[in-house]
Amino acid sequence: MKNIKFPFEIFPNDKKVLKIKEGIYWVKILLPSMISHVNVYILDDTDGITIIDTGLFCDSCIDHWRNILRNDFKNKTINRVIVTHHHPDHMGLMGWFKENFNTEILTSRSSWLTGRMLTLDNKKVVSEEDKNFWSYAGMPSALLEKKCLEKPFNFGDFVTKIPLGYRRVIEDEVLIIGNKKWFVKLTDGHAPEQLILYCPEIKIFISADQILPGISPNISVYPTEPNADPLGDYLESCKKLLQIKDLDYLVLPGHNLPFHGLNCRIKQLIYHHESALKRIEEFINQNPKSAYDIFPVLFKRKIKNSEMILALGEAVAHLNYLLKYGIIKKVIDKKGVNLFVK
Ligand SMILES: [Zn+2]
Ligand SMILES: [Zn+2]
Repeated sequence: MKNIKFPFEIFPNDKKVLKIKEGIYWVKILLPSMISHVNVYILDDTDGITIIDTGLFCDSCIDHWRNILRNDFKNKTINRVIVTHHHPDHMGLMGWFKENFNTEILTSRSSWLTGRMLTLDNKKVVSEEDKNFWSYAGMPSALLEKKCLEKPFNFGDFVTKIPLGYRRVIEDEVLIIGNKKWFVKLTDGHAPEQLILYCPEIKIFISADQILPGISPNISVYPTEPNADPLGDYLESCKKLLQIKDLDYLVLPGHNLPFHGLNCRIKQLIYHHESALKRIEEFINQNPKSAYDIFPVLFKRKIKNSEMILALGEAVAHLNYLLKYGIIKKVIDKKGVNLFVK
């Protein structure tokens, strides 16, 4: 198995555009949020450029884009914006690009539908569904009370209006960008139908948030679908990506540094989750446990308050996987908390 190698040791500085190779550019867009940055990529296209992912809808991301487009790309025509998935750091400015440049938007149907549906998300206070989800997952009552007083996260706050028109991209479709063939795979688990693009001719693989170096992508269950099994979906998608022959691709991820060692990293991520599942199984063998109880064996580190909601979603994802395959059983305690036993 080839090791992971990072050909670029540092990020592009000062919001600069970094040329990855002829016709492929990388920009680290800084985000005013818990996630520090998102990587966006710009491809030379015939008579223009193609943009992959956008950053959040906020003044600093818009200023950054205006600078790049004016200074580095001399206001070239934006032929299309390809959005890999519906998360606000990737989709946030999709509507802004459409509105300001009348550019074509390409994404998967699930990304577009999910993004558009989530613009309905403008809660003033924490919803009953959120409260119930956290409480059933075993969040201690003092923490639950505190979380219920915090301003809820609203997708709509970080995303411009999702345009009505878009072009749907499907699995195995071939897009021609800059006279090169780019192949499409759609993956699940981190986000529904997350779009992966790769070009064997120039050995570039745009992995979005499906395959990240250094960190494992968040695989979460959300209060809107508490019985979902995103981990099963994620592992299945990873195994699908392993079928693609690794031509020593340079992998361009949605976060962190580009790297070589695609297959190696996919196998590491599969192992990461499979070993976590084994640890959880052993842990709950002794006593029934809630999603909150399994934090020490799942994460092996202290979870900060700011990470609590995502961590809880990730813990439920692991338990739902084990439950779905009949490895563990669910019992409900007197307080209504879901406990899991062998
Ligand atoms: Zn994401
Ligand atoms: Zn992301």
